Amino acid sequence: MPSDPALELRGRLVRSLGALREMLPGSLVERQRACGKPNCRCADGQHLHPQYQLSVFSKGQLKTFHVPPEAAGEVRRRVDLHRRFQEAATRIAQLNLRRWRREKEQKDKAKQPRP
Ligand SMILES: [Zn+2]
Repeated sequence: MPSDPALELRGRLVRSLGALREMLPGSLVERQRACGKPNCRCADGQHLHPQYQLSVFSKGQLKTFHVPPEAAGEVRRRVDLHRRFQEAATRIAQLNLRRWRREKEQKDKAKQPRP
């Protein structure tokens, strides 16, 4: 059976989704802030503390979750997995749309009366 490049691509995309299963929704937001302690290094307004939040839009509401600085790298990586998941899902659906339209066209042609 001849191989179909589109089906091979779809298979690769579907298999790649498993590697993205640890994805997190939303986006990681970084802010710089002063803690307010007069003796802290941040009191000069230059050496501020990074503060991280995970912002998630869910059911029409924006929710934010505090992210400890030591977890920020991991959360950023997992949020990026979600973006890659969505890109792969979009490509799979587009590929299926092309195949569906082609099949429909072929069926329509078969229905036309022969000359
Ligand atoms: Zn401080």
